[in-house]
Parts: sequence; C-alpha cells; structure tokens
Amino acid sequence: MNPYTIFADIIAGAAPSSKVYEDDEVLAFMDIRPVTPGHVLVVPKVPAPSLADLDPALGGKLFQVGQRIAAALRGSEVAADGVNFFLADGVTAGQEVFHVHLHVIPRRPGDGFGLRARPTSPARADLDYLAGSIRGALT
Ligand code: 5GP
Repeated sequence: MNPYTIFADIIAGAAPSSKVYEDDEVLAFMDIRPVTPGHVLVVPKVPAPSLADLDPALGGKLFQVGQRIAAALRGSEVAADGVNFFLADGVTAGQEVFHVHLHVIPRRPGDGFGLRARPTSPARADLDYLAGSIRGALT
C-alpha cells in the first residue's frame, strides 16, 4: 500500500491545517469536512495505516489527547453538550485516509449526527462462545 496520505503532508507542515494540539508524537487538527462544528482529528505523527501498525502505547496516547480535546470542546466556544469518539479501521469500517486517526466529534442536541446499526439479541451461549474466541485471539 502507498504509505502517502494527506495527513503526512499536514504533519510535515507541507499542507495547511488548523491545529488544536501538537507534541512530539501526536497532532490534532480540525477536520476539513466536519460532521458537526468543532470536529477534531487526532493522529500519530508516525504514518501507521491501520491500528495493527500502531504501537499500542501510542494508541493509548491518541485516546488521552482525545480525552483532553473532549474536555476542551465542552469548555470552549464549541460548547459541546456531549462528545463521540470514532475510529474507522479498514475500508469496511469506513476508513478513507490510511493514516490512523481518532475523530473527536462534539455533540449538540439535534445536530443530525448518528450511527446506523441494527442491534440483535443473541443467546448468552452465543455471547460466551464469541467471547472465548476473542479471548483466544488476544495477543
Ligand atoms: P475516515 O473516513 O478515514 O475515518 O476519515 C477521514 C477524515 O479526514 C474525513 O472526516 C475527512 O473530512 C478528513 N480529511 C480528509 N482530507 C483532509 C484534509 O486534507 N484536511 C483535513 N483537515 N481533514 C481531511
């Protein structure tokens, strides 16, 4: 896979972005097509295309920075009433830019944002079976 993404240029300062936070490992900037006003993306500076390529400690840091930004979205003029985190890992999950990024999405009543899903009601035995399978695959 071509490792180039527009986020690499943004991190390098070769493409414009509206920065919210930066340190040695992480950059956060405004999404250019926000689903609600104040929508922020948090990215590692290393070009990891997917979660499997990302050091788990850095993944944890993305969440930590996201947590701080969530508080800022509530405390800033964005005046968020709630916040959603969203991360698309893989084409099937809706990933379009292949550089891991955490969406931090401020919520306001009636903002129109939502996830479509059809929850089911599996038997406990089915939940236990899949839990065991997932436990077995944990590394
Ligand atoms: P994904 O669908 O991969 O989870 O989300 C990619 C996100 O990157 C989208 O929300 C899209 O608006 C955002 N995006 C794509 N290109 C750019 C860009 O050049 N600048 C910024 N700030 N965001 C971008």
